[in-house]
Amino acid sequence: MSDAPLQVVIVGGGLGGLCAAHGLRAAGIGVTVYERDPSLDHRPQGYRIHLDSRGAGALRECLPVRLYELFTATSGQPSRRVTIVDERLRELHAVEFDGVSADGDPASFSASADRMTLRRILLTGLEDVVRFGAEFTRYETEGERVRAWFTDGSSVGCDLLVGADGVGSRVRRELLPHARIKDLGTRCVYGRTPLTEDVAALLPPRLADGFMSVRAGRLGLALGLMRPREDPARAAARLWPGLDPRWRGEYVMWSLAVPAALLPGSDAELSSRGAGHLHRFVAGRVAGWHPALVRLIEAADVDQTSCVAIRSSVPVAPWETSAVTVLGDAIHAMSPAQGSGANCALLDAALLCRTLRAAVASGGSLTAAIGEYERRMTEYGFAAVRASEQAASSFGGNPLGRVLQWIGRRSR
Ligand SMILES: Cc1cc2nc3c(=O)[nH]c(=O)nc-3n(C[C@H](O)[C@H](O)[C@H](O)COP(=O)(O)OP(=O)(O)OC[C@H]3O[C@@H](n4cnc5c(N)ncnc54)[C@H](O)[C@@H]3O)c2cc1C
Repeated sequence: MSDAPLQVVIVGGGLGGLCAAHGLRAAGIGVTVYERDPSLDHRPQGYRIHLDSRGAGALRECLPVRLYELFTATSGQPSRRVTIVDERLRELHAVEFDGVSADGDPASFSASADRMTLRRILLTGLEDVVRFGAEFTRYETEGERVRAWFTDGSSVGCDLLVGADGVGSRVRRELLPHARIKDLGTRCVYGRTPLTEDVAALLPPRLADGFMSVRAGRLGLALGLMRPREDPARAAARLWPGLDPRWRGEYVMWSLAVPAALLPGSDAELSSRGAGHLHRFVAGRVAGWHPALVRLIEAADVDQTSCVAIRSSVPVAPWETSAVTVLGDAIHAMSPAQGSGANCALLDAALLCRTLRAAVASGGSLTAAIGEYERRMTEYGFAAVRASEQAASSFGGNPLGRVLQWIGRRSR
């Protein structure tokens, strides 16, 4: 650990945890991140996510300038259109929008990002403070300080412990044992199909303008193109020589939203049967749909197929501030229906860093700063949880709810 005046331990090296680590470092605050996975690419996390002005603004606030530039250079083309089609690819609705930034200006940012590329960018410059293969188990308070314990029996003391350990957060379970997570009853089977010439020729041209949603009864298939503005290897060589983004090429992300009851097995059974089984399930569901959709699923990277349970936090009442806090999905996990989860996690990271930096600069109370962070974070975080759940439930639990709801409103 450094000899900085304040020492922070972050549990979880996901989007929120790594973004916070950058911001704390920039503020001269000592930080170490403990991540359970043995490496960054240990699990398939191949899908793209959509970031907006909240996420982009937070990244600009926390990252070194060149890493932020690398993020915008490697992000997808700005979204200009959302299209809803039926399973024969007949257009049902479309909404065009403008005001989106082509140059990465966070105020109007609206674009996709490849999750792994973003995580690699976020890890850059933090290699000396991120400990992989370190699974947090519990903490105990030591006066005004905290000690965090890990599965290998080791422990570390700090002034502030931040749980950025996702929806199943152990930090939250210790800090707020009464906080509950609801299963929203939907599963998303995700996959990616490399954008070969053959696949590109089949795709509906409108996909190049933004997100597309195929509606087929109780099923929804979301399609999103991941085509970076600049080749990530070239952008990295230009902006951060030595960073290997390990970009595997352009792809189409697809995601089939299915009521859990329609899946051929429990979550545990599906995960033990593997990616091939999930892929065959999706292929079976789209059989008979437009040939381009059938081919898109056939041509997928089968081993990148995975299934995610859609869960949502139940908002909790304010709690007594201590030297342990939480950010991101650890406290406000939400349905992806509004594309808000990662944006809020990044927002939390920036808010926490800003609040701590101000307290350190003014010699103010750490507890008061954490309390202020928690008050504001829970306000917008739980509002986003409620809005996401409402958007999803308006469409029978379909995680594409926001898009569908929004289009419904615009087309009235
Ligand atoms: C299918 C899907 C699509 C989504 N699409 C979008 C989108 O388009 N836009 C958007 O804004 N959001 C989206 N989200 C939400 C977004 O992915 C999450 O909100 C975001 O990843 C939360 O970031 P986080 O840092 O809080 O947690 P995570 O990214 O989950 O990171 C938590 C980290 O903690 C580690 N960890 C867990 N337990 C421990 C432990 N005991 N010890 C040490 N480390 C631990 C994990 O390994 C992980 O690396 C989507 C979510 C899903 C499921």
